[in-house]
Amino acid sequence: MLTTNPFEDDKLHEECGVFGIWGADGAASYVALGLHALQHRGQEAAGISSFDGKHFHTHRAMGQVGGNFDRDEIMRPLTGRTAIGHVRYSTTGETALRNVQPLYADLNEGGFAVAHNGNISNAMTIKRALIRRGSIFQSTSDTEVFIHLTATSSFSTPLDRLIDALRQVEGAYSLLVLTEQGLVACRDPLGIRPLVMGKLGDAVIFASETVALDVIGAKYVRDIDPGELVLVDDGGLRSYRPFAPARPRPCIFEHVYFSRPDSIVDGSSVYEVRKNIGAELSREAPVEADIVVPVPDSGVPAAIGFSQASGIPFELGIIRSHYVGRTFIQPSDGVRHLGVKLKHNANSALIKGKKIVLIDDSIVRGTTSLKIVQMMRDAGASEVHMRIASPPTRHSCFYGVDTPERSKLLAAQMDVAAMAEHIHADSLAFISIDGLYRAMGDVRDARQPQRCDACFTGDYPTTLTDMNEDGHPRLALVASR
Ligand code: SF4
Repeated sequence: MLTTNPFEDDKLHEECGVFGIWGADGAASYVALGLHALQHRGQEAAGISSFDGKHFHTHRAMGQVGGNFDRDEIMRPLTGRTAIGHVRYSTTGETALRNVQPLYADLNEGGFAVAHNGNISNAMTIKRALIRRGSIFQSTSDTEVFIHLTATSSFSTPLDRLIDALRQVEGAYSLLVLTEQGLVACRDPLGIRPLVMGKLGDAVIFASETVALDVIGAKYVRDIDPGELVLVDDGGLRSYRPFAPARPRPCIFEHVYFSRPDSIVDGSSVYEVRKNIGAELSREAPVEADIVVPVPDSGVPAAIGFSQASGIPFELGIIRSHYVGRTFIQPSDGVRHLGVKLKHNANSALIKGKKIVLIDDSIVRGTTSLKIVQMMRDAGASEVHMRIASPPTRHSCFYGVDTPERSKLLAAQMDVAAMAEHIHADSLAFISIDGLYRAMGDVRDARQPQRCDACFTGDYPTTLTDMNEDGHPRLALVASR
C-alpha cells in the first residue's frame, strides 16, 4: 500500500528507524531519547518493548515519540535493562495500531519482539505459503513474516531458528530482535538500510543512525556489517555471518535525503557528502545567477556546496515554518494548494529582481517544485534556475522507502527539458549518477554498482518476487490466490 501524501510533502519518505539497548538501567528511557533523534525517519507511529528478566512490556502508539513516550504513565511500566524501539512511516501495511512496531509474539522459546527498518520484497509470497500452512497473521505488515518463519522453523536453538527465517527473506532489513535469550541486531546481506553500534559505559546500543547515539551520550563503535548478525547477552557480544558473502549495496538515498546531516553513514559525514553534491552540481550544471537559494531544510547543505564552489552568494530566499504538523490540514481539494505556502514562504525583499538558483534534494511528483518556482516568480525573481542534488527519480523503491508508483514519478514520464517546462523553470539540471558517486568519494562501477541506486537507474540489487518494477503484483501471484 502506498501512502505518500502529496499534500504534505512531495518527497520520498524513509519508512522507519530502530533503536535498541542492552544492559542499562531504565533502558526504555534511552530508547525514547534515541527514537526522538530518529523521528525524521518516521512520524506516523512509535513503539517500545522492554524486557525485565521475566516479562516483556510493550507500548505502541500512533503519532510521534514526543506526546507518547514522554508521559510517565506510559514509561513507568516499560521496566528492564534491555529495550528496543521503532518509529514508523508505513509503506507496506495499512496505517493502524496493529502494524505499529515492535511487533510482539509469544513463541515456543519465549517472548519475541521485533523492530524492522526496510522492506521484504518477497513478503507476500512467504505470507501466502504460511497462511496455507495454518499461520494466522495479526497485522498486514511485512515484518510479521519474521515472527512466523521463526516460530515454524525446524531448527532447535532460538538463534538458528531466527537465522533460518532470515535466509528465506529477500529485500532490505536492519532488524532488532529482543528475546529472553538476548538482543539481536542484524543487517541484510547487501546492507541496504543502515545500522550502527555504540556503547554507553557497559551498555551496548544499536541504532539506525549515529545521531541517536549522540543524543544519549553514547560512543559510536562501528557499523553492523552487511550480512552480519550480532547477539548481545549476559555472556557478552558475539558476531555471526550466517549468509553467503555478497557485494554490499547500501542505499545511496540515505546520503541525499533520508539521514540527518549530523549523522555518519557508511563512514561518511552526511553533511559533507551533501555539500560535495552541491559542489559537483555547480561544476556539472553551472549557471549565471545572483544568489543560491536552498529549498529548506533538505536542500541547505547542497546549496552551501554549490555556493562555495561557484562563488555565487548563498541566501535564505525561502523561509520554512517549523510549526506545520503533518496532520494540520486535512487533504481536501479546496485547500490543497495552500499547503506549500504554509510550510515555505518567499523572502520577497531578497528575491525581487534577482536571478536565482534554487537547490532541492530531489523531484518526485514535481508538485512542490512547481509551486516553489511559482512562489519565486511571484516574489519578483527575474530568472529561476533549478538544480537538483540527485539524479532524476525514475523508479520506485521496494526496500522500505515510500515512493509513488512509477507512473506518478515526474522523471519517469518526461525528459529533463520537459520537466523544466512543466515546473516553469528557466533551466533545470540534476546531478549525474557518476557525479553523485564522486561526491561520496567513489567511482561508480556501472557493471556492479557499489550502492543501491535503483530509484535512479532501475538496477535493483535483489529479485523482486512480489512486484514487477512498476510496482504491480506479479501475475503469477494473482493467479495463485
Ligand atoms: Fe535507496 Fe533508492 Fe535503493 Fe530505495 S531504490 S534503497 S531509495 S537507492
